[in-house]
Parts: sequence; C-alpha cells; structure tokens
Amino acid sequence: MQKRTYLDWNATAPLRREARAAMAAAWEVFGNPSSIHAEGRRARGLIEEARTIVAEAVGGEPRNVIFTSGGTEANALALTPIVRKSNQDIDNIIISSIEHASALAGGRFAPDRVRYLPVHRSGLVDLNALRTMLAQGPPVLVSIMLANNETGAIQPVAEAAHLIREAGGLLHVDAVQAIGKISIDINALNADFLSLSAHKVGGPKGMGALVLAENQMRPSALIRGGGQERGGRAGTENVPGIVGFGAAVMAAEASRVTDMARIQTLRNRLEEGLGQTQGGVIFSQEIARLPNTTLFGVPTLKAETAVIRFDLEGVSVSSGSACSSGKVQPSHVLKAMGYGPEITRSAIRFSLGWETTEADIDRTIKTWRKLSGALLRRDDTGLEPF
Ligand code: PLP
Repeated sequence: MQKRTYLDWNATAPLRREARAAMAAAWEVFGNPSSIHAEGRRARGLIEEARTIVAEAVGGEPRNVIFTSGGTEANALALTPIVRKSNQDIDNIIISSIEHASALAGGRFAPDRVRYLPVHRSGLVDLNALRTMLAQGPPVLVSIMLANNETGAIQPVAEAAHLIREAGGLLHVDAVQAIGKISIDINALNADFLSLSAHKVGGPKGMGALVLAENQMRPSALIRGGGQERGGRAGTENVPGIVGFGAAVMAAEASRVTDMARIQTLRNRLEEGLGQTQGGVIFSQEIARLPNTTLFGVPTLKAETAVIRFDLEGVSVSSGSACSSGKVQPSHVLKAMGYGPEITRSAIRFSLGWETTEADIDRTIKTWRKLSGALLRRDDTGLEPF
C-alpha cells in the first residue's frame, strides 16, 4: 500500500523519535516530584531539565515556566483579570479576531469586558485600530498570536507590544504555532505571557506551558491544590509528558533552521503548482508567513468535499481549521480578514513538517490536478459534484 502524504502538521505532528525515547525512559522514573527522597528527586530533576529547555527555546527563565495540559490551558490560564498593587487593575481584554478558539473564548474575563481587534485583509492585526482601542479605556490585557494557525501570517507582536506598554497594558502571545518553526524570544517580543503546546513540535498531546516574562505577576491558578508549579497549577506533574515536551523542543530547535529552509522550498513548490489554478487565492501570500503553511481557496470549491477527496487519494489536508466535531466550519479567520462566505467555505490548508518530502509535494500537486476539474465545477442543481 502506498504511504500516505500527511500535510496537516499545524493540526498536530507525529511524536519525534527523541521524545519517544525520552518518555520511554521517564516512565521508569516513578517518584512523585514533590517527594524529598531519592525517587522524588530523580523525577524532579527530569522536570527541571525539561523546564530549562523550554525556557531557553523562547529566551525565558526556567522559574517562569508553568507546565499545563496544552496550549488551550495555557491560554485559559493567561487570560485572567489581574489585580495590581501599584497600578490600575486589569479587568478588560482585547483579543485579536483571528485567535485560536481557546483564546477567543476570553478566558476568565467577563463577556462584557472583551473587545475584539480587527485584522487587515492581508491577515495582519490592525495596529491603528489597536491604538484607538487602547486609548478608549482603562489598561487592558491584549492577546495576539505570534503566527496564525490557518494562514501562517506572522503578526507584528513587538510593534503591538510597544503600543500596549505605552497604554499601561499587558500582552499575551499565543506562540503555539510558532515554536519550532520560527525563532521566538519573549524579551524581543516584549510579551508578558507566552503560550506553548508540545504536540505541534513533535511532543506528546496534552502538554503545554505558559511562559511568563521576568518579574511578571503569576496569573491566579486555574487548578488549586498542592501548590505545584510554584502555585501556578496544582496536581502531581505528568513527568513523562513534560520530559517528552522538553525532548521535542530540543530536537526541533536543533534542526529548526535547516528543516524550515527545506520545508519552505517545498511549500513554495506546492504554491507554484496550486498557483496555476484559475481564480485560486493563496491567503496572506504577500506578507511574512510561517514557512510551512499554505491556505488556499477557489470560490467554487467546497473545502469539505476537497478534504474528503484528497483523503481518498491518500493525502491528508484540512479545511481552514479542524473543529472537534470533525465538521467543517467556515473559517473565522478569513471572515475576519473580510472575505465573503463563498471563498471562506472554500479554504483548504496544506501544512508541511519535518518528514515532508519532495515526493509528497509532487503527489499533492498531481492529486489537485486530477481532482480540481470536478471539484471546481459549479453545480447549478446545488448538488455536490460527487
Ligand atoms: N493556539 C493555537 C494557535 C493552536 O493552533 C492550538 C491548537 O490547534 C492551540 C492554541 C491549542 O493547543 P492544544 O491543542 O495544545 O490545546
């Protein structure tokens, strides 16, 4: 049977060899990391090693890393009102309208304290709108992702941080899609909180972290109890999960520059192939994007049908973003970028990873050429073309 071509790396990545090996060894380390005896200290040592790796990957300090159950929990933990001693409290939030659902949900802010930041048609957040919104009210927390999961658009986070600082606010950055793909430095970004997820870099699912800037107040815990993670998240730590996260981040960082250069070349080759489609659009192509991501649409295409047809041909792609029901929803990202319902429903995402080969890309282009005639035919009866 022919090997499948997996082009949905922004949804998740396979477990890296290094993570699998480190986790296998960690399963044998059974001590409770909070115990003071030798078994406990061994487990604690493994956690602290991983904490250092994760911190260093984003230019942070190990003591400022709070391990969580994933990017979703990291976002939920960060998005919380903050009581400040020497400054005005923060009980309002501005969330960019292209955030992941876990940030769009608004965390622990009251719904009437949430405002949404518009984006330009290019897929970049509107900094002028941010300036106006910041001027309208009390200091706020602002949540802007570093790179969008659908378009790959890299957001002007450092510029936004400058405006937010001037207005006395705080900045949360969802860097879940950026880690392992582009370089990240929490200080250069001037961010207060940074969310990460393990499974996008080849670590285990159900692991993530919130990284805090130095001297930043810790958000109040979502899960209280034993005081683990310096009070940031209670519960006996998932030692193998944390170890796998660390090993994946280390492996990803070690080969990031060479991997991403190769992946970008492949991505560009894919876009050349898709670019020949009449009426086709590659979203955010004119701005800096993640090197592995292509979001492509053609007005008469139905993303749901296209994803199924690709799947039957052995190629895994996704519609803009997968939702837990498996149902294809029109992309809220493209809607926020000002696209109409027809093209919004047409978008399919190709996202490449470290195991993607030239043969995968050639197969994908060939498959698109084979399928596109029928997929793009406008069916006047309103029936699906297949
Ligand atoms: N933020 C972004 C930008 C994502 O793409 C995702 C996952 O798709 C998440 C957060 C959620 O991360 P997790 O799957 O670890 O909960």
